[in-house]
Amino acid sequence: MKQYPLAKPYITSKDKRYVMKVLNSGYLSLGSQYGNFERAFAKKIGSKYACAVSNGTAGLHLALLAAGIRDGDEVITSPFSFVASSNAILYVGAKPVFADIDPRTYNMDPGNIEEKITKKTKAILVVHIFGHPAEMTQIIKIARKYNLKIIEDACESIGATYRGRQVGTFGESGVFSFYPNKQIITGEGGMVVTNNKRIYDICSSLANQGRTPNMQWLDHRRLGYNYRMDEMSAALGVAQLERLEFIIKQRRKIADFYTAQLKPHSDIIQIPYVDRLSTHSWFVYVIRLLRKNANREKIIEGLKARGIASKPYMPSIHLFSFYKKMGYKSGDSPVSEAASASTLALPFYIGLTREDIKYIVKSTLTLL
Ligand SMILES: *Cc1c(COP(=O)(O)O)cnc(C)c1O
Repeated sequence: MKQYPLAKPYITSKDKRYVMKVLNSGYLSLGSQYGNFERAFAKKIGSKYACAVSNGTAGLHLALLAAGIRDGDEVITSPFSFVASSNAILYVGAKPVFADIDPRTYNMDPGNIEEKITKKTKAILVVHIFGHPAEMTQIIKIARKYNLKIIEDACESIGATYRGRQVGTFGESGVFSFYPNKQIITGEGGMVVTNNKRIYDICSSLANQGRTPNMQWLDHRRLGYNYRMDEMSAALGVAQLERLEFIIKQRRKIADFYTAQLKPHSDIIQIPYVDRLSTHSWFVYVIRLLRKNANREKIIEGLKARGIASKPYMPSIHLFSFYKKMGYKSGDSPVSEAASASTLALPFYIGLTREDIKYIVKSTLTLL
């Protein structure tokens, strides 16, 4: 039986050539590739600087450190995200404060932010979930009013635009991930983008053991980390980035076909929403089961028996046992919790054909 995984990396012969060139060169770290990737990335996204790092989580950690967020500070963020966005806030000793989401886009609802602001609030960590931009106009307005920094977790949304502008370029810094299920992949890998030279310098230094940018080995100015991206990953990133537009276009075609197939059933399935100010860059295709008695576990089992992977997407962060131990509880973010209980990610990757999608949709509908 044909198997449909949730995600599948899309690797071309050019990707392999670029990586082989690095392997043949003998320079596997701190060579020329990570700098090439940084410059190409900044150019593509429209930021002044980009700092390559070992993964998106490391990037979020550095972005928060560079923003000066520390012990005792509070950072407002979305509960409906991958755990890393919130964990990074804990890494710097600050407290994640969750603002509930908009049920259409699953992004933080700006209307819920102001009531969460206290004297300790220093920043808003905006997550652009699933490839759909958050409502930046209102978030920026609130940040200005209360003098808060904005850091963007754009790990799922490379290439998405809000009012014509790339996500990741609205805040003091923006963070991307190249984990193998993302739109652009390097294996493990991430990037911090910023228009602020000081932020870039701090991130570069912290990613490389705290070394001063010019003195190389001679001085360690601060407590740093080894969050460097290796040269094979960077070369793969360069190759992938060159066809970003093509990748997003292909993903959009697949999403549009899913949507066309599912639309007649929108009374029982909520299809992804794209607001008129945004373009979606399609990290995943997530539906929501609208029937009160829909048994998601049974649907997942039934799909699995037909060779189709599917997954609840995503759990609300504040309900993880580790977070509950810190005092977060059920009922804190009801919209996010309700979404977590009824959303389902379907197979989504370049290579899925129309026939594949028809089969996946038909199977899902049969099980509902
Ligand atoms: C993937 C992801 C990350 C973390 O990226 P890694 O590269 O896996 O560390 C952070 N936030 C969100 C929302 C993500 O989807």
